[in-house]
Amino acid sequence: MPTAKAYASVSPTAALAGITIPRRETTKTDVRIEILFCGVCHSDLHQARDEWHSVIPTVYPCVPGHEIVGRVTQVGQGVTKFQVGDLVGVGCLVGADHSCPNCQGGFEQFCPSATFTYNSPDPHGTAPVTYGGYSDSIVVEEAMVLRIPAHLNPAGVAPLLCAGVTTYTPLKRNHVGPGKKVGIVGLGGLGHMGVKLAHAMGAHVVVITTSPSKAEDARRLGADEVIISKNTDEMKQHAGSFDMILDCVSADHDINAYLNLVRVGGNLTLVGAPEKPLPVSAFSLFFGNKTLSGSLIGGIAITQEMLDFCGQHNITADVEVIPIQKINEAYERMLKNDVKYRFSIDMASLRD
Ligand code: NAP
Ligand code: ZN
Repeated sequence: MPTAKAYASVSPTAALAGITIPRRETTKTDVRIEILFCGVCHSDLHQARDEWHSVIPTVYPCVPGHEIVGRVTQVGQGVTKFQVGDLVGVGCLVGADHSCPNCQGGFEQFCPSATFTYNSPDPHGTAPVTYGGYSDSIVVEEAMVLRIPAHLNPAGVAPLLCAGVTTYTPLKRNHVGPGKKVGIVGLGGLGHMGVKLAHAMGAHVVVITTSPSKAEDARRLGADEVIISKNTDEMKQHAGSFDMILDCVSADHDINAYLNLVRVGGNLTLVGAPEKPLPVSAFSLFFGNKTLSGSLIGGIAITQEMLDFCGQHNITADVEVIPIQKINEAYERMLKNDVKYRFSIDMASLRD
């Protein structure tokens, strides 16, 4: 069986290190991809350290990475959409049955047979679970591969494959656009994409952050206003005024303080995935008939729509490019909130 070089964690506390993994032969419907860049999502860290144990236990070795941009090196005989040399993307999904009601509705992430890019039972039997993008190559069925607008910088495109689609989808679902006031909580990888996308959609965008030092960046990224969430006066001034708030926070926080900012009939969507459950006061919701919802990544069609939208608006993530050898340092810096605003791994470092 063909192999690939990769970086993996082998236990919740081990540093990620080099490993050789199997990658299946290119079947009739497969696309083989040389990975150029892979974004570093906070979910990679949660999963590598088994922080979601009660929901999605980690199977080791774990090769994270679901923000993949690469070049097609081989296609199966039945592949029609891609050719050798094409620049392509792979996000959080690498398989689905394509026939169930969820797939038919464009929600492959909820397909009973959905295969996620890493730590998901591998239907091809290549390994017990799938291995992600911290690797020099990957083999993915054609239906799950995305086209990348050629003029965008590939290092900055990689994070669109998760952070981009995860924020684009709930913004669209809530009809974000001109005349809407949208709050983005947490200016990290997801949050900064949320700001760029909501701004490009024409909304009035407000960043709600715990970090006063990010205020200037927030405006540069497209925010019309910035609220420092620890400042109770600023929070009071905006009470009951938001059509929608997108909560992109990775750690424990008081969601009621943000629900208080939502207008009557407005919505708060959670995309952040803290380790522990968040207590919600019923009063925070029923005073104002507010809705609290969640959103998981996005299906293939909306991922392509988001990539095309980013192509039209020249949107990419603000990235700090790192070699794979710096991944453990990058995780520590992500926890310290020291990344502007996404690490993108240059996979040439794995081929050296
Ligand atoms: P990230 O880059 O680390 O950003 C998280 C941001 O949350 C930080 O920049 C910080 O922003 C804020 N924050 C951190 N600790 C906080 C605290 N204690 N209280 C309030 N705010 C805090 O992470 P990410 O990659 O954007 O991911 C964010 C979360 O989304 C993760 O839990 C990840 O697993 C999840 N996720 C979910 C989906 C989905 O489909 N739903 C997809 C991808 C990722 P400020 O400095 O501005 O406060
Ligand atoms: Zn992610």
